[in-house]
Amino acid sequence: MLFIRICRLLPNVSVSQALPRHALIRRSMASDPAATDTTRFDFLVIGGGSGGLAGARRASELGAATAVIESHKLGGTCVNVGCVPKKVMWNAAVHAEYLHDHNDYGFDVGNVRFSWETLKAKRDAYIGHLNRIYRSNLDKAKIQTIQGHARFTSDPEPTVEVNGKKYTAPHILIATGGQPSVLCDDEVPGASLGITSDGFFELETLPKRSVIVGAGYIAVEMAGILSTLGSKTSLVIRQTTVLRNFDSLISTNCTKEMQNSGVDLWKNSQVKSVRKTDKGLEVTIATKDPEKKNEEEKIRTIQEVDCLLWAIGRQPNSSGLNIGEMIVDTDEKGHIVVDEFQNTSRAGIYAVGDVCGKALLTPVAIAAGRKLAHRLFEGKKDSKLDYSTIPTVVFSHPPIGTVGLTEDEAIKARGKENVKIYKTSFTPMYHAITSRKSQCIMKLVCVGKEEKVVGLHMQGLGCDEMLQGFTVAIKMGATKADFDKTIAIHPTSSEEFVTMR
Ligand SMILES: Cc1cc2nc3c(=O)[nH]c(=O)nc-3n(C[C@H](O)[C@H](O)[C@H](O)COP(=O)(O)OP(=O)(O)OC[C@H]3O[C@@H](n4cnc5c(N)ncnc54)[C@H](O)[C@@H]3O)c2cc1C
Repeated sequence: MLFIRICRLLPNVSVSQALPRHALIRRSMASDPAATDTTRFDFLVIGGGSGGLAGARRASELGAATAVIESHKLGGTCVNVGCVPKKVMWNAAVHAEYLHDHNDYGFDVGNVRFSWETLKAKRDAYIGHLNRIYRSNLDKAKIQTIQGHARFTSDPEPTVEVNGKKYTAPHILIATGGQPSVLCDDEVPGASLGITSDGFFELETLPKRSVIVGAGYIAVEMAGILSTLGSKTSLVIRQTTVLRNFDSLISTNCTKEMQNSGVDLWKNSQVKSVRKTDKGLEVTIATKDPEKKNEEEKIRTIQEVDCLLWAIGRQPNSSGLNIGEMIVDTDEKGHIVVDEFQNTSRAGIYAVGDVCGKALLTPVAIAAGRKLAHRLFEGKKDSKLDYSTIPTVVFSHPPIGTVGLTEDEAIKARGKENVKIYKTSFTPMYHAITSRKSQCIMKLVCVGKEEKVVGLHMQGLGCDEMLQGFTVAIKMGATKADFDKTIAIHPTSSEEFVTMR
């Protein structure tokens, strides 16, 4: 009977292919009659994105009968509407940037034309290829893929329903990620005429006139890509700098670099309304400098906008899960509250990745998912992710690399007298013979008598690829003296970090 039921659930796979052997044994032992219309696994993962797939695959390697439920495309945000297509677009923008330097380096490239359509077609094909690889990897690992939206039921044992079918497991992982926050038309009339970062990846042509709203890394990256590829781009920010939660050196420098590269920055500004005209969108913006108390709010409009992009934050995908029924705690923004082992408030239910609201990055979700699998299925009781010293790159122009404490955070944690800052700024050698210039800025944050390096922040050519190695050193507890003992690599920008005084 049991075997027949499994075959019905998995019509295209044989039983031995479908589940690891021990899973069948487990299932044949299930004697609860109520469980007969509910399919059981050892590990049930909701969300086939970075965290969910990583956790599922590691659990399966460790012998757990695993299923992944995905409502959209495998790979989640990162693969479909995040890191991967974004990096392709950034690479294209870097080409556009370097075109300005070709003459200085002796190349006569004549009349260069850019086709957004070609780029998008190649990018989409690459993403489609990745989606297929993800599916085939799950099949190879004998992980069942369940397509559809998962929702917890009111059954006494944590159970999930997808397209009318029920699934359960002693261990259920929520890895449902997040989505871009949007404003409704009640808050800003006409707001829904804009798109979000998801919509950016659907644009069929390069917008002529773009307005990006937001000051976080997604706003900075999207504005940079659009502007560099030739769209006249305005960035609307509520205060005076972008990336305000980064080290102040980065925040100030990135704001300056954006302006230098031609992004039209609207500081102290907010979109008041959006209207559709026959020439595109008309975006009305209010600007008020809080320092100038007696000055009136200025109201201006940007006309003929063909891309208004809201990049005003992200919200967790937790509301459609019916987790209230499970008594899984969430914070006021809907993030699932977990302890350091990714346990939620309900035994047997865990959460990793963006849905938890901490360090919203693909490698963080992946590492947390894998650590959890080792704890649950390999008996490694202490397996948990160390959330300290997580490196981040912003693919701005030029790119930013940052890890560890900002100067302000270090002073707050250790007191000003215990913090020593090393800084430098220079024009990278690449620009020695170009008329276009961009600066490289670097900062080391050191604490205590031993000058332990607790923060490293930089913006400049190559900083994206420079960060990973330095993070290893910092994670190992490197001091300024260790940096100084290291022989420089010449001529590079990274050598500045080991020659700072
Ligand atoms: C524009 C952009 C650029 C980014 N760039 C970078 C970068 O350069 N580097 C980096 O490290 N990070 C980047 N990120 C962040 C990164 O994409 C996320 O941190 C990462 O994808 C989070 O993984 P996750 O597993 O938590 O969620 P996701 O990858 O979002 O996966 C969640 C999955 O769950 C599915 N799902 C949701 N609800 C349900 C449900 N009820 N039932 C079934 N399935 C469900 C979703 O469809 C989705 O596929 C970027 C994000 C964006 C938006």
